[in-house]
Amino acid sequence: MPLSPHSFESLELAHVGRSFGGRAALADLNLTIRAGEFIALLGPSGCGKSTALNCLAGLLPLTEGKILIDGQRVDTLPSEKRDFGMVFQNYALFPHMSVAKNIAFGLQMRKLPRDEVARRVDEALALVKLQEHAKKLPGQLSGGQQQRVAIARAVALEPRLVLMDEPLSNLDAKLRIEMRAEIRRLHQSLGLTTVYVTHDQEEALSMADRLVVLRDGRVQQIGTPEELHDYPANWHVADFMGYRNLLDLTVDRVDGELAHVSGHGIRLVGRSVGTIAEGDLVRVAIRPSDFALDGTPGEVNSIRATVNLVEYQGREFASGLTSSEGLNLFAQTEHAPRTGDQVTMSVRPESVLVYPADLDAAADAGAPSRPAEVLV
Ligand code: ATP
Repeated sequence: MPLSPHSFESLELAHVGRSFGGRAALADLNLTIRAGEFIALLGPSGCGKSTALNCLAGLLPLTEGKILIDGQRVDTLPSEKRDFGMVFQNYALFPHMSVAKNIAFGLQMRKLPRDEVARRVDEALALVKLQEHAKKLPGQLSGGQQQRVAIARAVALEPRLVLMDEPLSNLDAKLRIEMRAEIRRLHQSLGLTTVYVTHDQEEALSMADRLVVLRDGRVQQIGTPEELHDYPANWHVADFMGYRNLLDLTVDRVDGELAHVSGHGIRLVGRSVGTIAEGDLVRVAIRPSDFALDGTPGEVNSIRATVNLVEYQGREFASGLTSSEGLNLFAQTEHAPRTGDQVTMSVRPESVLVYPADLDAAADAGAPSRPAEVLV
């Protein structure tokens, strides 16, 4: 399928905001999307992801800011004039129309010649490998196949931007992983610029060129999967990126980039992220997979703890542990510890991220001691 003739160099969201009844669901979103990029909007429920997508789509008017394509405003255009394709969580197919007719519908609405419609429908069906299902009704297809039809329908319009709102969340885990690869393949082969909304960090990390992490309607960080995974900008992003151990400690000493912190009977050395000084309260983030359970007692960054829960997770074991002063900790290791074992947890200083404790941290002080009832 040829690239959209209406392609662009860059799409810019400048100070985009949307409020409902005076309350900002999205505030000051600044993002420049390059042609061909795959951008994921990521964040917990209610953070403003769908609001951002709907503002882009033209389904919601902005209350602040502008959206520009190659310098031309598009936020003033109605949805149908923006030339964007949408894929929704619930597929939104017409149940009484065949697969082929569902794909053809938007093309016919655009009054394209009949042979052009037929060509595009065939190409879109081939792209999503559904040729032999062309005459079936959506109800005769599986969820994954229906979502493929929805994607084919969007792609057939040769849109200059594809917007996807949690398109895989109605599918089972295995199919989700298959469809991730499928969407990525389509994106790469067509060079489609895509904005993809998800609350699943793994999905976003595996698919996107860049991620935009939102929280309470505000951007927390924009970066590549590696940047977000290895250098979360604040503890909220770290929390969202799987740094399951969040410990409220106090700074004893700052030594260049290294911070020496302590509290609850433990002492750690880690990398400071942000400005911190001696005596500050900090929130320390450590990924479960960065802990080893065979450390040497008394060494730097060792914590004595008791294993109280072990869960097999495919290739690794997730463990919930409790330190001698009652801190709940999480580890993920190749070898299974036994429940009741006393172990020495250890972690390298570069894997210990020390963040300033913001005001929310004080309000949310229960977070570090979340019990290990559920490991994933
Ligand atoms: P989810 O993953 O649950 O869909 P989300 O990150 O997409 O969440 P949004 O749907 O963008 O979040 O909602 C952001 C905030 O705006 C929420 O607090 C929500 O209650 C509010 N909101 C969204 N739509 C409306 C509306 N039409 N009227 C009033 N408030 C709204």
